[in-house]
Amino acid sequence: MNLKLPRSFTYTEKPSRNLAYVKNGKLYIEGNIDFENLMYNLTYALHGHERCCYCGSWLTEKSRTLDHMFPRAYGGISIPDNLIPSCKKCNNKKNDMTYHQYIKYLKCQSDQERQEQYEKSIFANKSRIEKGKYVIPKKWLVQYDITKLLKQIDMKWLDRTCKKKGSSYVKRHAESNPIIVSSNGYMFKGVYALYYAKKNGLKEVPVVMLDNVIKVW
Ligand SMILES: [Zn+2]
Repeated sequence: MNLKLPRSFTYTEKPSRNLAYVKNGKLYIEGNIDFENLMYNLTYALHGHERCCYCGSWLTEKSRTLDHMFPRAYGGISIPDNLIPSCKKCNNKKNDMTYHQYIKYLKCQSDQERQEQYEKSIFANKSRIEKGKYVIPKKWLVQYDITKLLKQIDMKWLDRTCKKKGSSYVKRHAESNPIIVSSNGYMFKGVYALYYAKKNGLKEVPVVMLDNVIKVW
């Protein structure tokens, strides 16, 4: 998939070799930038951060947040295509519904209707995860050979980290958080999904491949 990108954008983190910038429609990432921070900054560069997309209220430093349109609890990754400026009140009310589920919820006429819409939505999202499917759009995912990703990881570190967390934690995170990879094969996110796939002898896993993102080695 191609990430939504602003025309021009520069972002740095200390030390200054941690740098990201947009050039000719592609995002270049140098050094060890915090992926989530970068994605949040990209989203603000795209949308501004003045108004809540749900209630239209003006946002202040205090009331402002970014909503995951596909909720984080059900695999909603932090990329500009899934983030939208929102006030904390709307963000809380939306809870773990998707953007479309919440729009339906807002159109409900009574408390009872709203309650039903909420329960229906959460049930649908949970069921997808239980069936081994992600809630995020299928078109964001491609099958990917995990051996390419395993080469980037210190296996001792991966084993130690995942064993410390315990198998149910790893399973839950693996099921809801897909691996995110740059067009040239760098893994930004998804160590639990990778570990889980390896443990279960999988050769290929669905990953979110960012076709317009290049990691500068
Ligand atoms: Zn709002």
